[in-house]
Amino acid sequence: MAHVAFGKVEDYDEEKILSVIEKLFSLTGIDRNFKPGERILLKPNVLAPRKAEMGITTNPQFVSATVKFLRTLGLEVIVSDSPGGAGTKSMFAMKETGIYDAAVNAGAKVVPIEKFGIKTFKSDGGAKIHISKIIYDVDGIVNLPKLKTHSLTLLTLAVKNCYGLVPGFMKTRYHFYYPTPRKFSWLLSEIYERVRDKIRAVILDGIVAMEGNGPSAGDLRKLGLIGISDDCAAIDDALEKLLGLDKPSPVIKELKKRKLVPDYKVSWLNGEETKIHDFAIPSNWKMRLIPSFLGTLANRLIQIYPVVDESLCTGCGECASSCPANAINISSNGLPKFDYKRCIRCLCCHEICPSKAIKLKRTFLTRFV
Ligand code: SF4
Ligand code: SF4
Repeated sequence: MAHVAFGKVEDYDEEKILSVIEKLFSLTGIDRNFKPGERILLKPNVLAPRKAEMGITTNPQFVSATVKFLRTLGLEVIVSDSPGGAGTKSMFAMKETGIYDAAVNAGAKVVPIEKFGIKTFKSDGGAKIHISKIIYDVDGIVNLPKLKTHSLTLLTLAVKNCYGLVPGFMKTRYHFYYPTPRKFSWLLSEIYERVRDKIRAVILDGIVAMEGNGPSAGDLRKLGLIGISDDCAAIDDALEKLLGLDKPSPVIKELKKRKLVPDYKVSWLNGEETKIHDFAIPSNWKMRLIPSFLGTLANRLIQIYPVVDESLCTGCGECASSCPANAINISSNGLPKFDYKRCIRCLCCHEICPSKAIKLKRTFLTRFV
């Protein structure tokens, strides 16, 4: 049986985080999953090169506390991730987020994921899945997700964080091939199945979470939560219940179909059990779930689509270079122009824009959904 445990801490004070992590490991016994001398990949969420206070990435103090804890187990720790967006170098993103300095000062090595090459798997249906060979360079993985909402998968937690093991531009391309929540959840489950045996522990950063229109343009919400588990699907399922979702996300549905959500028990550090009320999900979520059998007309009439807020746009062009459908051109006035015939509504542009300049607009009929 898997074990999920939660503890509370009021802010990103490294010493306090370290103390809670120590207690959670001691409560669950998950430290028995490690042997001194092993080489462990610490995989934070480094979605984009943004400052820690934006709450888009795993917090650097959280990374630092985790590295220090793993070092006490006698482990060699390397830190790596593949950021979203076309052409964003992983080391640049690590430095911008503050994770590079935090990890190195705590005794880890930060390595560029690009240098490890790619292993290609074939799914049963024949789809090609590309995963970084970094997973073969280590004995195990410690997954360090950030608790956030996500406009395509509802939430981004431990299983979704494994998507960062897909290197480079393939991450963006997959949005073109798997544009709906159901298809993308299928892809996430395929990736997860190929890496889950390597994952020794999940340590979730839910101290400041993101609700609303995550994973990058939502609202920060202080939950003060740290979660750990020996199983990604178990902690994701437990978190969905803790957040009070009325239905499981498409990711959990797909994982359950594949029997990848094990039985698990949930523990809390003494007296810290808490309930989370009114956690805001993405505003587009109901539209996302309109079944395809309703046809293209319904999908066209009941739709959410990206528009640019010209007052916020800096003309950096990141949205255009990250669009998997080539549906954005930067016009001569420096602003993005959308080709809605090509747009597949993946909302990668909304996710990647560093200025929160891409807003989600709804068609008139969406108010009746
Ligand atoms: S919308 Fe955002 S990503 Fe696109 S050009 Fe403007 S600032 Fe850059
Ligand atoms: S314009 Fe935005 S939502 Fe549309 S396909 Fe491109 S990245 Fe996705």
